[in-house]
Amino acid sequence: MQQQQLDAIVIGSGIGGLTAAALLARYGKKVLICESHAIAGGAAHSFTRKGFHFDSGPSFYCGLNHPKSLNPLRQVLAVLGESLPTISYDPLGHYHFPEVTFPVYSNSERYREELAKITPQGAVELARFEKRLLSLYEALKDIPTIALRADLQMIPVLLVKYLPSLFKLLPHLGIIQGSVGNIMNQEVTDPWVRRLIDLECFLLSGLKAEGTIAPEVAFMLGERNNIGVDYPIGGSGAIIDALVRGLERWGGQIKLNAHVEQILLESGKVGGVKLRNGEVIKAGIVISNATIWDTYTKLLRAEDLPADYRQKSLQIPAVDSFMHLHLGIRAEGLEDLTGHHVVVHDRNKDITEPGNTCMISIPSVWDANLAPEGHYVVHAYTLEPFENWQRDSHYLERKKERSQSLFSALEKIIPDLRDRIVLELIGTPLTHSYYLRRYQGTYGPAIAAGKGTFPSFNTPIPGLYRVGDSTLPGIGVPAVAASGILCANTLVSPQQNADLLTEIYR
Ligand SMILES: Cc1cc2nc3c(=O)[nH]c(=O)nc-3n(C[C@H](O)[C@H](O)[C@H](O)COP(=O)(O)OP(=O)(O)OC[C@H]3O[C@@H](n4cnc5c(N)ncnc54)[C@H](O)[C@@H]3O)c2cc1C
Repeated sequence: MQQQQLDAIVIGSGIGGLTAAALLARYGKKVLICESHAIAGGAAHSFTRKGFHFDSGPSFYCGLNHPKSLNPLRQVLAVLGESLPTISYDPLGHYHFPEVTFPVYSNSERYREELAKITPQGAVELARFEKRLLSLYEALKDIPTIALRADLQMIPVLLVKYLPSLFKLLPHLGIIQGSVGNIMNQEVTDPWVRRLIDLECFLLSGLKAEGTIAPEVAFMLGERNNIGVDYPIGGSGAIIDALVRGLERWGGQIKLNAHVEQILLESGKVGGVKLRNGEVIKAGIVISNATIWDTYTKLLRAEDLPADYRQKSLQIPAVDSFMHLHLGIRAEGLEDLTGHHVVVHDRNKDITEPGNTCMISIPSVWDANLAPEGHYVVHAYTLEPFENWQRDSHYLERKKERSQSLFSALEKIIPDLRDRIVLELIGTPLTHSYYLRRYQGTYGPAIAAGKGTFPSFNTPIPGLYRVGDSTLPGIGVPAVAASGILCANTLVSPQQNADLLTEIYR
């Protein structure tokens, strides 16, 4: 591909960048992704050490391989002609509170039956809470994300094609932009269930119920109840491989080890990018999948943006970073182990307090090929602030100390864990920010529902767009895939959107 022929350059191959690039390629655009890392996928990349295949971040997925799933990622894969073999499982996880451990089932009735053993009244209240959110999911589900664009040209499409669905949404207008905390306050008084809802919101958005938008929780409950959860065979990297294959099948390209140093402007418009090795690549459209903070501080000069806009953008608060534990362990005697666990250590501490809530994923219980025979691959992580982390003489000591909450969380599930370890990698916020090229290693923006709006994918610079978790509400794979879809769809004509939909759904 000659550089001057490019229609668009995408900076970064996170799921947001890959989705936007692959969909633009599907529309016939000439696209190149420049990825800084040697491995594609950003937060969702996989890596291998001594035969253990680790997910660096996400491992919890819904509807990757289900034709009725609303997951925007599945819709993109379908459009690209890709599908993913997956393994379905239930219960989707176990929550371990200091006072009780219980299984969480995808099916909401079964979930409530388990909950009723702990709090019968709470289970009734949860049923009311879920009913309201599931009816929002029902209203949303007739408009597939793949059909959406983010400009005024969407209006006639909605009116002509989706009028009945819009009517279904009318009763939900009051909650669609709001916090799920409002619904919780109306329906749930049981303190135990309120903490459970807070926990589920925190796992989704990094914020408790009050800060999490209702549609995000509606989507999560609706998908897991109607479709169920699944895990891609080969791990998260298999998703990335499928997106890269889809990109390349439609003529797009990806360049790894290609760190973009600067977005180049010509007469105030985007002209291309300059790589760290000095190479200049030209295109009239640049889409940044780097976070908003990285894009506006590292890739543009301060004077490239209106001062007010830049300042406001950089003031967006960020969720903390993470401590990670990636382990290879001997699996003998652990045949009944399940794959997902969430451990809350101390009931008197807030669930968002670093180290108090630990997420654990052991995906080799579903896909044995992720670990050498007779072994499991383990990933545990918990929030950790970026501040105070430097590579100084205390770094190793601090690393050991701050990872203890992860070890003790794992010991609740595998008491003799430490005797089983054959490979141990501890990651800090510095590791996270280095490998993911993310500002302070953040999980994403901490914009609480009703307290601010996400900045969208438009920027004040003609030709410059952004995708990924700092564009649309909702951090996580479905939300970032949706950001890529909205961006790509908006960069082509409504007729091209319609033709693509006709091709897929005929
Ligand atoms: C520990 C953890 C667990 C998670 N678990 C789940 C889960 O179970 N389910 C779920 O749905 N979500 C989960 N998430 C969230 C989800 O993984 C992310 O929201 C999502 O993958 C982010 O995608 P993104 O497109 O915004 O960008 P990123 O993944 O951040 O990708 C951005 C890419 O841009 C590249 N880049 C940045 N700057 C440059 C530059 N200058 N030049 C070139 N390339 C550059 C980076 O290298 C990176 O590859 C988890 C996240 C983490 C961290």
